[in-house]
Amino acid sequence: MSRRPAAIGPQPLPEKPQWRTARGWRTLQGRRPLVWPTFFLRAGCLLYLHHRSSLEHDPRVLSPDHPDAPERVQAIEAAMRGQGWLGCELRDAPAATERELELVHAAEHVTRIRELCAAGGGQIDADTFVGETSYTAALHAAGAACAMARALVRGEARSGFSVTRPAGHHAEHERAMGFCMFNNVAIAAELAIRELGIEKILILDWDVHHGNGTAEIFRRRADVLFASIHQLGLFPGTGAVSDAGSGKGLGYTINVPVPRGSDEEVWISVLEHVILPSALEFRPQLVLISAGFDAHRDDPLADCQLEASSFAQMACHVREMASSVNAPIGAVLEGGYNPRVLAECVPATIAALDGTMPAESIAPDPLVTSRVAAHVGHYWTL
Ligand SMILES: [Zn+2]
Repeated sequence: MSRRPAAIGPQPLPEKPQWRTARGWRTLQGRRPLVWPTFFLRAGCLLYLHHRSSLEHDPRVLSPDHPDAPERVQAIEAAMRGQGWLGCELRDAPAATERELELVHAAEHVTRIRELCAAGGGQIDADTFVGETSYTAALHAAGAACAMARALVRGEARSGFSVTRPAGHHAEHERAMGFCMFNNVAIAAELAIRELGIEKILILDWDVHHGNGTAEIFRRRADVLFASIHQLGLFPGTGAVSDAGSGKGLGYTINVPVPRGSDEEVWISVLEHVILPSALEFRPQLVLISAGFDAHRDDPLADCQLEASSFAQMACHVREMASSVNAPIGAVLEGGYNPRVLAECVPATIAALDGTMPAESIAPDPLVTSRVAAHVGHYWTL
């Protein structure tokens, strides 16, 4: 199914607007809008992939206080609908085939998840629960990432966003963990390399938790540059700055743990001054973003201080780098556990990916960026 809404008009400001002023951005009366003026939009077509099965995976059936609730996606969709879907082309996500899942996962892992769900579901580890409908949801979450990669590589769009559940970046080759069953972004990346003729991919993981599954899957590979910014000391505890990958993949993993309390001065600084210069030298043909929004100041699971405009700025920086190497960008929803925050951050990110709003340069922060650059500078010209 494909729908394209009518051209969008001026967007209403949010009922309770939040403005970023501390760094003195010079936009509308010194304030930065969360709902972008339409003249910033439409740099290229953006795909929005989703599927109703994302709403039927609910870990709260087995764990009543679980933060990964269907309301996360419902909040995003209500906000997007209220803004005319920002002009995106909507597509229903197909189910991934088991052959696609097995591009990065052991067949036994796929079978285990399928059979557990078919038996009514259960607990996989301390945080990860599945029900009868979770396998279908997971197939469509992986299928959305694959369909997006295919569409981007074929040139049907310059960017895309997959808003599906469950997330994927903690899922390893043979293990589900951290709310994740199958590693959606890794499956899409491997599909693009093996079947779509792509030779080099950047995966940028800005979820506040380290994308351990993605890192492990590609840690010995030189065709996937994996870069993660994450809060030091959080689940799953991996992602030390000294871990740069191994074997042929040495240097192709960039881990940036940031202290709790880090704000965009730190996050955007490491993105602008370490990760993106490395990515530019790598020259990816496709950029995938593991887009979690749990580094927002109001997320219940972490202690970073980003705002919706911070994610939009990160998207602008990525868009400018990708544009300079003519690479399309596909973002995949990972974490983010405050539905109100997701309703602000996802549209802001989509507008930035699809727009022409310039990225704003900031000075390197003196602590984190210089320390990370000292490690990454062994492999890339910074
Ligand atoms: Zn997360």
